[in-house]
Amino acid sequence: MQEVLKEYLRVGELAQQWRAVETAATREAMMAAAWVLARALALMLMSQVLETRAAEPVSWPNCKACGKRLRSKGWVARQWSGVVGVVKWRRRVGRCPSGCKIGQVAPLDQALGLEAYAHTSVAVQEMACLLAVLMPFDLASRVLARLAGVVVSASSVWQWVQAHGRAAMARLDEEIQRLAQGERPAPEALAAEIAALPVMVGVDGVKVPLRPDARGPTWSDRVARGQGRPHRPVLPSGAREWQARLRDQAPSAQEGPGSGRAR
Ligand SMILES: [Zn+2]
Repeated sequence: MQEVLKEYLRVGELAQQWRAVETAATREAMMAAAWVLARALALMLMSQVLETRAAEPVSWPNCKACGKRLRSKGWVARQWSGVVGVVKWRRRVGRCPSGCKIGQVAPLDQALGLEAYAHTSVAVQEMACLLAVLMPFDLASRVLARLAGVVVSASSVWQWVQAHGRAAMARLDEEIQRLAQGERPAPEALAAEIAALPVMVGVDGVKVPLRPDARGPTWSDRVARGQGRPHRPVLPSGAREWQARLRDQAPSAQEGPGSGRAR
């Protein structure tokens, strides 16, 4: 397999990128050239897989407006940017034979979960939004290009922040509304081995168990039922001994501020 791949790289479409790796003089240059090659290979594989799928027979859906079966209008190019770069492919698109204003429909895009106007992967948008939390949009777009090699404008980053922010606020409002109607949030699913581990939350030295045990319901259950104070915290074996040792080693309350760390 390795030999086949090497032979392909030497003579195939990526020969130029492979040559750049082979002739790189320094490790830095070799790594940079290998990264270019890896991305080109990943994009080529994706394009080929997409074109194979696009060549399969299409089952045309019915028009949303009039119910007539859509008719093929031929092959149209599509591209989409992700973390490895811009992937390009061609696929069939269809339109309503009665000319309903539903735009062109691409069944392959729908099967891939690709919306009509989506040109950038959600992973790239998330990365851009995270960067925009820490820095101006223009800088976020430049850092994204440097880190991931994805070139997007500052205004695109601004639009993604607006869109994802609106969606996050809508989700939060919905959750608050459900809570106000008495519906408690659904707990996250946990693997059995993780669920069996003791869980404690420390708040200024107070530890509170959050999962039920033989002694009764958890604090959060009791608070939710209006039963006030939590039951005695559950500590793993040896924890009380460590607590006592840490208490003995702690600087005394009479010492001045900062004296505990200065020693
Ligand atoms: Zn129609």
